[in-house]
Amino acid sequence: MKFGGTSVATLDRIRRAAKRVGVEVAKGYEVIVIVSAMSGKTNELVGWVQETSPLFDAREYDAVVSSGENVTAGLMALTLQEMDVPARSWQGWQVPLKTTSAHGAARIEEIPTQNLDAKFAQGMKVAVIAGFQGISPEGRITTLGRGGSDTSAVAFAAAFGADRCDIYTDVDGVYTTDPRITSKARKLAKISYEEMLELASLGAKVLQTRSVELAMRYKVKLRVLSSFEEPSDEAGTLVCDEEEIMEKNVVAGVAYSRDEAKMTLVSVADRPGIAAAIFGPLAEAGVNVDMIVQNISEDGRTDMTFSCPTDQVARAEKSITEAKDKGEINFHDLVADTDVAKVSVVGIGMRSHTGVAAQMFQVLRDEGINIKVITTSEIKISVLIDRKYMELAVQALHDTFGLERSA
Ligand code: ASP
Ligand code: MG
Repeated sequence: MKFGGTSVATLDRIRRAAKRVGVEVAKGYEVIVIVSAMSGKTNELVGWVQETSPLFDAREYDAVVSSGENVTAGLMALTLQEMDVPARSWQGWQVPLKTTSAHGAARIEEIPTQNLDAKFAQGMKVAVIAGFQGISPEGRITTLGRGGSDTSAVAFAAAFGADRCDIYTDVDGVYTTDPRITSKARKLAKISYEEMLELASLGAKVLQTRSVELAMRYKVKLRVLSSFEEPSDEAGTLVCDEEEIMEKNVVAGVAYSRDEAKMTLVSVADRPGIAAAIFGPLAEAGVNVDMIVQNISEDGRTDMTFSCPTDQVARAEKSITEAKDKGEINFHDLVADTDVAKVSVVGIGMRSHTGVAAQMFQVLRDEGINIKVITTSEIKISVLIDRKYMELAVQALHDTFGLERSA
């Protein structure tokens, strides 16, 4: 059972969460509880680090920002003890949750189960784990990246062969799209790992993308549900294998991301190695390039367009300009359009249904929305459009693909 920041935001909410844990213990379960920091805490800690040291040492960043979870883990264990549930808290290093040494974005390598198993064997019913943190091979505290306690939760579920992994959050499940954009958004009873992976990486913030990757790899039954709703078997959304979903719409959801930028290198030489010369340095500079389009060339020159998050535009410009100064690439102009948004439709049904892209483009045409860049994968079609049309596009697509009705 994982409780996110809003579910442990106050002592009262910790008590409510602990009651849910108590219910599972009463059913005979041993429970591993993963907690986030109280909501807002991690942001505050990150702020303190940045104010103290703008070019901070990542090891100390982790030492500071991991601390929010330590507090909630101890408080949750105490709350359970007050309810006469035998519980003990564990920080990442105590388990130990072993990670790489990529501070701030460490990856989990191994979770040995002996320490916890020994305690369970002695009668402990609940192990409360500080999410988001682990220990590097050098013995330093690491963190798993923002939203990382989802990944902690799935990793523990996989390591211990848990029956279920319940993620308690402030929304009551995964929706066909953001309910703030259209009231017709519908909660999905089930969604496949692959669709969830696309939605998570497209900016649906319910689950950290890596947690879905892990769940898919280890076939962890993942349920997303609200800690503010009465528990029931139908509560929330189950993220599972596609075989377990009987009825599915061709399109499962419409996702968007507001903070996209489109950058174009105008008139680059079209020769072998040019893409490597552009995107190699961008990768080294840590720019998350998403869509890439190379135009047909004329007279040996072409335009190269890519998208990246708006807040990485400066970094991208710097990297490209440096490559130009070194003579590795040349181009006539570098144009950044920071007023774009990405809208995507996702669904495994696209594998067997044709015409989804055509239908998407017709809707956008009918709304008079110009498409700037298109990319597709087997189960996803994404377009870049002017940001001011983003909501309109999401609403129109949600209507067209009939997402307010279940299949
Ligand atoms: N507290 C961390 C964060 O805010 C980790 C988490 O809650 O998932 O990013
Ligand atoms: Mg989260």
